[in-house]
Amino acid sequence: VSDVGIVGLGLIGGSLARDLAAAGRRVVATDRSGAAVAQARGKGIVATELDPDEPPPLVVLAVPVRATPDWIRRLAGSTRPDLVVTDTGSTKRSILDAARGAGLDGFVGSHPVAGSHESGWDASRTGLFRGADVWICPGRDSAPGSIDAVERLWRDVGGRPRRIDAGEHDRLLARCSHLPQLVATALGTALSRLGLPPEALGPGGRDTTRLAASDAAMWTDILLDNADEVRPAIEALADALEELDSAITDGDEQRLRALLAGAREWKAGPS
Ligand code: NAD
Repeated sequence: VSDVGIVGLGLIGGSLARDLAAAGRRVVATDRSGAAVAQARGKGIVATELDPDEPPPLVVLAVPVRATPDWIRRLAGSTRPDLVVTDTGSTKRSILDAARGAGLDGFVGSHPVAGSHESGWDASRTGLFRGADVWICPGRDSAPGSIDAVERLWRDVGGRPRRIDAGEHDRLLARCSHLPQLVATALGTALSRLGLPPEALGPGGRDTTRLAASDAAMWTDILLDNADEVRPAIEALADALEELDSAITDGDEQRLRALLAGAREWKAGPS
């Protein structure tokens, strides 16, 4: 069984390193933070520092979305002709474009639907990917062997690979992940401006603001990278808020009740 390389030992890369090491794979890794590498090496999870000029046959990029293209270009210049590279980024179009631009034919995009609002090596843990869907976006020129190698890697840590087109992925994620993050951030902003401390929240308020604690740098990358898909989703939300506002302003009981009931039906599913 060959070595696996990981770039970025935060929540996602660190968790992957832990599971792969536990499964007996030799992990070589690097991170901008020397402390993360030192801790992973100290625990015997990472064997040695990854050398981008001489990478192992399979490398996973688990760095922020906008740091990923630089690493793609760096690895495209390595001496290994059969190199397979994947990533974990929450958006896919720009990353696949970067791989095509760099001529990295062995690139296959991945996005594990697992994680939390915590970040960094200290937040990493074993079993993070068990039972999780993992979106797989092959490039136009990806060799079947590269796709198989990437899907096998995720299955080895308990993930469930599912193939999807990059454009479809970014539209879906704008709605089911990026918009909920924006709602929590907007709610946190509004409550903070209204002078309400988080301790004042009840269970419902705590649930709906959980994502407000997400990492600001990671989300800045995701939202700017996927702006063209995120903006129509924000508009749909703004329309819904405006409708609620006008029903309340007009004292329109019927309209307000219909809006509340419509969302309730959507959430409860067909009865
Ligand atoms: P994280 O902040 O926990 O970890 C990122 C790591 O990358 C850090 O250790 C940081 O030091 C390192 N890093 C940053 N820039 C670097 C660079 N240029 N070179 C080398 N190392 C660098 O973030 P994370 O949650 O592990 O996210 C990693 C990727 O996975 C992101 O692209 C994110 O969009 C994606 N993702 C995150 C989640 C989640 O819930 N957190 C879920 C799925 C996918």
